[in-house]
Amino acid sequence: MKTYTILVCCAALATTACAGDAWNAVPADRIRLGGVLGWRVDLTTTNNFMQLDLEETFFKPFREKTAAGGFVGLGKLADAAVHLARYSGKADVVARKEAVIRAILETQSPDGYLGYLRPESRMKALWDLHDTGFLLQGLMSEYEEYGDKIALEAAKRGADYVLAHWKDMPANWEFDSITDREWTLGLGFGIARLYAATKDARYRDFLLNERSLKEWELPIVIGRGKMFYGQAYGYLGTALAQLEMHGLEPDPKLLGPTLRALDFMLHGDGTLVTGTGGIAECWTNDQDGEGCVGETCFTVYELLVFDRLIRLGAADLARTGDLMERTIYNALFAAQSRDGRRLRYYTPLNGERTYFGRDDYCCPNNYRRGVARIPRNVFYVKRNAVYANLFTPCTANLDLGDVKVAVREETAYPSDGKILFTVEPERPAAFSFDVRVPRWCQAPVAKINGVRVTYPFTPGSVLKLPRVWQKGDTVALDFPMALRAVRGRGRQSGRFCMMRGPLVYALDTRSAARRPGMNDHDKGVFAGHPHDVQTVLTLDPRLMRFHPDGESSARPNGTMIEARFSTEDWSDGPSADDPTVLLSEYADPDNTLTYFRTPDIEGCGCVDDELYSGDTKKQTP
Ligand SMILES: [Zn+2]
Repeated sequence: MKTYTILVCCAALATTACAGDAWNAVPADRIRLGGVLGWRVDLTTTNNFMQLDLEETFFKPFREKTAAGGFVGLGKLADAAVHLARYSGKADVVARKEAVIRAILETQSPDGYLGYLRPESRMKALWDLHDTGFLLQGLMSEYEEYGDKIALEAAKRGADYVLAHWKDMPANWEFDSITDREWTLGLGFGIARLYAATKDARYRDFLLNERSLKEWELPIVIGRGKMFYGQAYGYLGTALAQLEMHGLEPDPKLLGPTLRALDFMLHGDGTLVTGTGGIAECWTNDQDGEGCVGETCFTVYELLVFDRLIRLGAADLARTGDLMERTIYNALFAAQSRDGRRLRYYTPLNGERTYFGRDDYCCPNNYRRGVARIPRNVFYVKRNAVYANLFTPCTANLDLGDVKVAVREETAYPSDGKILFTVEPERPAAFSFDVRVPRWCQAPVAKINGVRVTYPFTPGSVLKLPRVWQKGDTVALDFPMALRAVRGRGRQSGRFCMMRGPLVYALDTRSAARRPGMNDHDKGVFAGHPHDVQTVLTLDPRLMRFHPDGESSARPNGTMIEARFSTEDWSDGPSADDPTVLLSEYADPDNTLTYFRTPDIEGCGCVDDELYSGDTKKQTP
């Protein structure tokens, strides 16, 4: 029976929580971010989202409806627009979001079809169902964040069109050219949220019966494989739909594929040091790092999955936060130009990183979605507890159920590991202030009102601070950020990369070649090896120095590491008399080299990557 009841679960303007959730997201308009995270969200809003030619790039094909196939990504853009607008609150950003939603509503066909293909191609041609799925997601985000019931009704009609015409799909379409999960990527997560909002059993039945959401448990396929089965973003897209369903009707079968992927990322070399992974969109574990590496869609879908796992309480909380932090600061931010306008499809470790020449399609729109959700990833809340997941200067107004708490956070993170929270509950109240203690930090210190927390806690765990909190109470954290040389894995074996806190550092080999004081021999080496200077360049981690105020092009007030280098005598390596180069944060758009040779990889103090350490511990719910 059809029902139009709108349930409180995932209802508009509430924290987007479902019955089975352990933690809730904080609505983006309750937090103001500063620092690198705030800068990046503002940059993406102002210099990217607000600069798009919406009519020509995104709306026109939907108004014409003459195409035989293809993908625009209007639904993904709508999803990003909703979250950017909810965070920003500025009239021009909100108006632009409304223009995007209005275009979807205006161009929806009378029969409910959401898309831009000509009638005979609808659903049957690539990527129509893919686009429809994301349009459903965009409309659901508009409903969830703004309580827009017109958007919800449009989503229902759009989904009903798919359900009504599902039986008309050509025979064996799932085996036509590409895996059905990639073909319909977006549909499951959209319809699961529609089911959450409406409790209409037809949507549940479609997901569980027609889409076999509980039975889907594809293994990790390395490489492209038949039918593109190795496509990592498609895998995570289905996993995300499963997680959404798991939040509504918990079932271990719905968690299995996500935890398998997590194990591959953490313990199977499935993720690079920068937090992303894959080559040519497909799972890989070779750690190659050159070329079509780290699709931005995959990077962002990792973040969506991590966020959902945190809210479900379905994986190690601190480790999931560590993964999110690593991925955001490195892989995600490396996909954007310094002025914010240009975006990347791939973010290789070594070699030139090229920009994608379009504003539409998958990666640019998923990039916007990933950045737009950062304000929701900083704190999570539940009744009588708050969890500080990402660190950045900010103010937040948090609803802990029994009490409302304002939090002010002061820090120069990630340039520095000192963080000061000031807690302002509306009245003295008992709740737990929980903090992620990053796994990279060897000697964390926490103080409440200046008094050191003496009971033991370890890196890679969540520090829980339950007490009766008073207005003005403070939590001071000190997470010392030592430089660490991290041993390469797979094809990077025998090399190292430099890290400090969550940040990976890398070298722009072209500007390094222009550094003053470089002798003619070294100039010649750099000039003669524009793409493979790593084959002749050796560095020694023991001869590196941190520069807190580098003139990095990664971000305002970026940090740098000064390194001595040698190109002359590979066996001896550099000495303190050798010339220097400056490594900047990996996200610096100009960087071209992340892993370095050193004459003695075993003797130079290299450590394993604390996050992807290769141990075999399984992630269990
Ligand atoms: Zn993509």
